[in-house]
Amino acid sequence: MNKNNLGTGKCPICMHESFSQIFEYTSPPKGEIRFSFSSKTNYNRRVIQCNLCGHYLSIHKMDDSSLYSEDYVNANYNDNHGIQKTYEKIMALPPHKSDNSGRVQNILEFTDKYFMDTVPPSEKRHVLDIGSGLSVFPSKMKTEGWDCTAVDPDPRAIEHALKNVGIKGICGDFFTTDIPGTYDLITFNKVLEHVKDPEKLLAKAKNNVSANGLVYIEVPDGELAAIEGKEREEFFIDHPHIFSFASLSLLVKKSGFFPIKIERLKEPSTKYTLRAFAIPCND
Ligand SMILES: [Zn+2]
Repeated sequence: MNKNNLGTGKCPICMHESFSQIFEYTSPPKGEIRFSFSSKTNYNRRVIQCNLCGHYLSIHKMDDSSLYSEDYVNANYNDNHGIQKTYEKIMALPPHKSDNSGRVQNILEFTDKYFMDTVPPSEKRHVLDIGSGLSVFPSKMKTEGWDCTAVDPDPRAIEHALKNVGIKGICGDFFTTDIPGTYDLITFNKVLEHVKDPEKLLAKAKNNVSANGLVYIEVPDGELAAIEGKEREEFFIDHPHIFSFASLSLLVKKSGFFPIKIERLKEPSTKYTLRAFAIPCND
């Protein structure tokens, strides 16, 4: 691969070859979780931005290959008891303080109109949540009458989904796990920024979205976060990708979907977020 002056090659989203360095880190920013992989070695990381589509990449040489099968739950929630406690804490937040409540409200408003004719309220609507983690999202959707299935690579997250949340669960990496059936809605809530190849992951959803179905995507908004500086959580080490309005739109298109709504907001937690609804393009 030809490398440019920042050693990065092409933008994975728009194929442009020119980048600018935005931030450099020689120690973890305040608040960043100390994963075992990032605590063992000298910390050195940069955030660069594509000069065309505005997409951000976080570049480092630390070995994060075991992050989502083990390290992520260990570092974030400690163990099964930690999962349950964090789940209960988030579920107990009042709606005006909960990112999850805002997400659910937004999705219900959109889908109530969108599925009015194709999946009327008298029928069960089905959602597949990729990278479900604590399952706070499918849990709330369940109380709204949706049939929910969670997918997560960590067995502890799926055990929690089955036992504590009472939804269906599939333990596996969505990149490599073939999931049977189709769903009215497939959700990627703060998932695509965590993976090396978000286009491949999103494209896989085409296999499981129903003919009249939708995907919903939430990612960190680097453009607004960057204004506030390098300590923002949008740029933490577990996000190899941070999006711009244009790069999210391009990613959706390249993955075989057609964006029908994209918007940005600052959530109750203060996270800057881009969120999109999209439908599959006909091949
Ligand atoms: Zn680009």
